[in-house]
Amino acid sequence: MEALTDKVSLVLDGELVEASTGARFDTVNPATGAVLASVAEASADDVDRAVRSGHAAARKWQRMRPSQRARLMVRYAALVEQHGDELALLQTRDMGKPIRESQGIDVPVMVETLEYFAGLITKIEGRTTPAPGRFLNYTVREPIGVIGAITPWNFPAVQAIWKIAPSLAMGNAVVLKPAQLAPLVPAALGELALEAGLPAGLVNVLPGRGSVAGNALVEHPGVGKISFTGSTDVGRQIGRSASDRLITASLELGGKSALVAFGDSSPAVVASVVFQAMYSNQGETCTAPSRLLVERPIYDEVIALVVEKVEAARVGNPEDRETEIGPLVDAAARTSVHSYVTAGVAEGATLAAGSAADPSSAAPGFFYQPAVFTDVTAGMRIAQEEIFGPVLSVLPFEGEDAAIALANDTIYGLGAGVFTRDVGRALRFAQTLDAGNIWVNSWGVLNPASPYSGFRFSGHGSDLGQATIDAFTKEKSVWVRLD
Ligand code: NAD
Repeated sequence: MEALTDKVSLVLDGELVEASTGARFDTVNPATGAVLASVAEASADDVDRAVRSGHAAARKWQRMRPSQRARLMVRYAALVEQHGDELALLQTRDMGKPIRESQGIDVPVMVETLEYFAGLITKIEGRTTPAPGRFLNYTVREPIGVIGAITPWNFPAVQAIWKIAPSLAMGNAVVLKPAQLAPLVPAALGELALEAGLPAGLVNVLPGRGSVAGNALVEHPGVGKISFTGSTDVGRQIGRSASDRLITASLELGGKSALVAFGDSSPAVVASVVFQAMYSNQGETCTAPSRLLVERPIYDEVIALVVEKVEAARVGNPEDRETEIGPLVDAAARTSVHSYVTAGVAEGATLAAGSAADPSSAAPGFFYQPAVFTDVTAGMRIAQEEIFGPVLSVLPFEGEDAAIALANDTIYGLGAGVFTRDVGRALRFAQTLDAGNIWVNSWGVLNPASPYSGFRFSGHGSDLGQATIDAFTKEKSVWVRLD
């Protein structure tokens, strides 16, 4: 695979090509700060070519038998699995996630997702409706055509597949614009689509700038839907542009998720789930439980256990199998995360783990010491804004009403969870927590059969589950006069 080398091309219309402008950018290994590869940087012209090739490919794809399409997608899944170790290492080098997560989570999730959507291809059905008089009325689900997919750098592999798989399953082609900070695995996935025998142009991968290639994709008249995952600010811009063009946009955006731990739950279990969910991927996870709300009776004990784990966390070379926390994605991310730690200290929260010292002189790489703030109050910036790094805010509460008010006191609504042994209370919280994904006595469980979407400023629409049948197709109503 070319994506494994130090010179990476666009995957466009079935070929690996230079950008029309000849432009390139470097992608950097955040653990060392060294250049990893030079990547072709797509222009608006490249986007135009890709969209045109996507339409031709989608027509070919749609003419194939559904079972044949399903078989090709299963072959694609098998190739991803076969190259799993290479893809995992590539992802870890490109964005810093510990290798054990890339290998143990991201690769199986990609394979499972492709297999799920391969299975869905043969189950897309229309309806007949109770038509009046001598009429037959039925509906058909038709592909949209070309899906414009734009993805972030924090889960570059999984996010690419979450867009590619539903697009293809519903008979569409896809033009994917991955994040500039982590384009290598998406480029590899474009190559593997070709190797699997998918028609040329069905999966185009165009690394480049959001403001150039991303914007050209959103504005292109040949794109029938945008599937975007990224920050709330960019998502809002894209939502506005899509609505101007009267196309739909699914928007999976930021979060500030609350995990509520009641006094009847086990402090040890809570601490271990929080450590895993909050600090995996260096905290660069949209559903990280970055607000931990703990009922007073177990507040001190949970904090002591979380702090103990955070202080013992193995931060270091992400390619080492023992590493639990790798580097942040770049220097700007580290500066931004550290500005929140500085703000938390200034706002009067207690820095129970971590350091307020300037991290920028620590070299090489963009490592950041994981942090825990206690005695946080709801109005503080560290309780409201997405930090997107290994910084946890812990807030105490007393009683259910206070907990639910605190948990929902955010502009976001991506994930939320409750730890309690009281079934009634668990179900009351599942009802009243205002977020798209609710976990009870667990955190972060996902499955391609289950929708995954946010509420409020965390966006809307899902790339998973059967909801994608509606989201990635158009429903046509056909009336037939019978006499
Ligand atoms: P980002 O919004 O900066 O970038 C996301 C993508 O949008 C990139 O490919 C970028 O190049 C592109 N882009 C930027 N400006 C654009 C424009 N004007 N037009 C078109 N495309 C443009 O986000 P990021 O920093 O890559 O990722 C981190 C964010 O993603 C966090 O806020 C995180 O919570 C969110 N995220 C959400 C989910 C979810 O499922 N809800 C999952 C992962 C990440």
